[in-house]
Parts: sequence; structure tokens; C-alpha cells
Amino acid sequence: SAVKEEEFDVVVVGGGPAGSTLGTLVAMQGHRVLILEKETFPRYQIGESLLPSTIHGICHLLGVSEEIAKAGFPRKKGGTFRWGSGSTPWNFSFSVSPKISGPTSFAYQVERSKFDKILLDNAARKGAEVRQNSTVLDVLEDGERVAGVVYRDADAGEHRVRAKYVVDGSGNTSSLYKRVGGTREYSEFFRSLALFGYFENGARMAEPFSGNIFCEAFPSGWFWYIPLSDTLTSVGAVVRREDAAKIQGDPETALNNLIAETGTVKNYLADASRVTTGQYGEIRVRKDYSYRNTSFWRPGMVLIGDAACFVDPVFSSGVHLATYSGLLAARSINSVLAGRIDEKSAFDECEARYRREYSVFYEFLMSFYDMHVDESSYFWSAKKVTSSSHTELESFVELVAGMSTTGFELGGAEAAALRFKENSTEFADAIDTMTAQNESNMSPLFRSAVVRQAMQEGAQVQTRAQLGEDAGDESPLFDGGLVASEDGLFWERSAPR
Ligand code: FAD
Repeated sequence: SAVKEEEFDVVVVGGGPAGSTLGTLVAMQGHRVLILEKETFPRYQIGESLLPSTIHGICHLLGVSEEIAKAGFPRKKGGTFRWGSGSTPWNFSFSVSPKISGPTSFAYQVERSKFDKILLDNAARKGAEVRQNSTVLDVLEDGERVAGVVYRDADAGEHRVRAKYVVDGSGNTSSLYKRVGGTREYSEFFRSLALFGYFENGARMAEPFSGNIFCEAFPSGWFWYIPLSDTLTSVGAVVRREDAAKIQGDPETALNNLIAETGTVKNYLADASRVTTGQYGEIRVRKDYSYRNTSFWRPGMVLIGDAACFVDPVFSSGVHLATYSGLLAARSINSVLAGRIDEKSAFDECEARYRREYSVFYEFLMSFYDMHVDESSYFWSAKKVTSSSHTELESFVELVAGMSTTGFELGGAEAAALRFKENSTEFADAIDTMTAQNESNMSPLFRSAVVRQAMQEGAQVQTRAQLGEDAGDESPLFDGGLVASEDGLFWERSAPR
């Protein structure tokens, strides 16, 4: 029988943060976008601790800030770590100073079932067609080009959809990424397993840190402790692959045994009870091996989010990388469909920026793991980076405590912030503080490339989203490369100076 093929401009595989970011930003330009999602939302996902640029940069561009603000997610002002030498926990704050919080110097801890649904519903509201319970099986090809997908609906019916672009945002589980060519390379350094569950009535840190993520290193690895509401806490252990035996057998016993190895997490959970029903009732295991694919795009197809690469979860970078790559690929597709930039330039820029951001976090995390708790323990000595020379990281605590995501050393963006200040009382205080901080006590590690870069591009996205044309002209990230348009939704060739 003749099957009628549908046609869209763009088919997005997966309705996670990467897919819905891309789908929304392309649909907002009036293009016909179809998002195909295997599950029916709300669905469970791990990755609950977010970074500010996702909230104040991407969510702002998506037009979903208010809804996110009203959802009741705990505010995350930073992280508290029992990590490195010494047993005293230290705080890392997103604001310029722990005492002063700027309007954008926080993120949220989110229940991903709720957060992801808000983003996907918003994509539909902004014009994307969303079909859930629809599993993409393969891509269609037209010679060298990817030209659409085949998917299966809830009733096992198969459908063919033609599209100018197929975007793979299907996360770490799908194998669709292979159709872009190349291979998936795993990191030798970050190969761990995570075991996690949920607790009611765990203790909270004292204000102003009660919304922070707490991370505790212990001999076999490290724990996360993430407040998801006043009473609900996400608790997970990350252990190295050689310790896999520790998470085998009965998961409840395994988790309890690991908790017993900690200092603070054990105390926080002393009066807590594990959730045993609903989406949080299960103890789950995830391989969190880090990887990146050797290619991120081919004509007609691009990979975003975990489909392209994944890096260790300790610094909560997953959703940032997912939504950031959604933005980059949206700029590329919008630019090509509008006839503004050729396909190769647009997607090379997208891939280069995504790779760079990934590498920046990768390096940053290597340094982070280099601060061993216990040199003699196998976990930490295996994590030692022989070539690393980031000795300044001993004083990481004070240094990052003053870090601003609204833009230290941002050059053009900082100058733009000052211009913007004249029109905005909302930002005035934060901008004054930031500037004063930069001039008077700029700490040496702010100049350390590893720390600065880890925050820089996120800050740039955030500044552009908040300030639009007031953010001023950008310089290309790469020689001869492209820059974001004023609204942040296209690429442009930078104006000759
Ligand atoms: P996903 O969120 O996985 O979404 C992909 C979607 O595609 C899913 O909804 C899936 O159902 C759908 N799909 C899959 N296959 C198909 C198909 N064939 N057809 C149609 N749909 C399909 N990140 C953080 O930011 N903070 C954290 O604290 C954090 N902690 C983590 C802890 C652990 C142990 C791990 C392993 C990861 C953690 N992450 C964290 C990372 C985070 O989970 C991911 O980076 C993030 O979810 C990636 O988003 P995505 O949109 O790329 O993919």
C-alpha cells in the first residue's frame, strides 16, 4: 500500500532538554518542526542539579523563565563540597560574593520529570509538533544526505517523515548517533558507575546553603546529595568501575553500605527514610562513562546533548551541555534555512563550539579529581592526572567562591553590561559589585584558564540572552569563525574591523 510520507523542515529525535531547546528555537522562526519522543512525559531522568546559564540564558531564550520560576524548584546558589585535603566542607557560590546575590547568580535543583515536561510543553506552545510514544528506528538517506526518519507509534504503526534536517537528541541510550558516521570514543579517565535512590526527610544544610548540591568524596568515590524539595533528596554514589562489586547484589544493601562509608551524607540521612514507591521508589544503576563521538554532524543530520558526548556528572554540566548544544545547532539550522550561511560553515561552527565547551569541562573535571581526598586509596590514585600541574587548585575554595557567572573578564560583554546598567535598575547593583570585585581583588585563579573557561561560554550565552543587542558585538571564538546574531538565534560572519 502506498504510504504517505509526511514532510517537515526539521525532525528532532528525543524530547529531553537538548531536543526541546532545539525544537523550540527553530519553531520560533516559523519552521515546521516535529519532535518525536519515545516515552510519554512526565518520565524519569537523572541529572537534577543545574547551572545558571541554563536557567538565565537558555530558558530565557525559550520564553519559559516565568514558568520555571513558578514551579517551586529549590534555588541552587552553588555547591558545597567535602572534597580535597581537609575534612571541612567548602562552598562554591555562583554569585560574586556569598553575601551578595545578583539576579542571575543561581540555578535550580529540579525533578527532571517536571523540568523536562515544562520544556517539551513549551516547545509545543511555540509551534513544534510533539508526538510522544513515538520511537525513531532509523534515518532515511538521499545519497550523502540524511533526509528523514522512520518511526514507530504506540500501535506499532511505522511512519516515514522527510525533513531537511534530522537532529539526534535521543540521549545516551539510543544508537541513532551512529548514522552520523564516526565512532564513540570513551574516556580512559572517567569510567564510573552510579548507584542512586531517593530519601524523605534527610537533613538540610544551614542557610544560605540549604539549596546547594552537596558532594562528598570518600575512599571508593563520591556521593551527591541534592535537595529536590523541603523533604525529598536525591542521593547517589559514583564508584569507579573496578569497584563494581560494591554495587552488585541487593541494591538497597549496596547503597546502605556505601552510605556507611561516608561522614556527612551518613549523618544527613540518619533520620531519613528511603522512598519505595512511585518514580523515586527504585534504586537505579547507571554507567556514567564519559564519551564523545568523532563526528557531530553530516549533511542533513546533527547530534546534540548526550547523543554527541557526555562528561562525568560531578560539576552538573550535563543539562548545560545539552541545552547549549541545542542552541548552537538551532543557530546553524536557522541560518541555513534562512539562506544566511552555508551548511558547512554553520555546522562546523556548531561542532567546534560544542567540542570546545565539552573539553573545557573535561579538563576542569580532571583538575577537580586531582584534588584527592586520600592519596593512598586506589580510587584517588587512579584518578591522579600525571600531566596535571594545577597546583593552585588547593585554594580552589576561596577562588571559586567569588566567581561570577554574569561575566568576569568578558571583555565586550562586560562593557555591554555597564551600558545596560544605565537602563536597568534591576542589574545595577550586581554590575557595580561585579566591577568592583574585578578591579580590587581579582584572584589569580580567575586568570587560570581552566576555571575561567569553564564559566566563560555559559556566561556569554546568558549575557546575550538577557541583554540582546545591548550585549554588543562578539568576537569569533575561533579565527575566521562565526559569531551569534544580536538575538542569539542565528550565526553571522563577524563584521570586518
Ligand atoms: P535525555 O535527557 O536523555 O533525553 C533524551 C530523550 O530521548 C529521552 O526522553 C528518551 O526517551 C528519548 N529517546 C531515546 N531514544 C529515542 C528514540 N529512538 N526515539 C525517540 N525518542 C528517543 N546533568 C546535570 O546537568 N546535572 C546533574 O546533576 C547530573 N547528574 C547526573 C548523574 C548521573 C549518574 C548521570 C549518568 C548523568 C547526570 N547528568 C547530570 C547528565 C544528564 O542526565 C544528561 O546530560 C542530560 O539528561 C542530557 O540531556 P539530553 O536531552 O541530551 O538527553
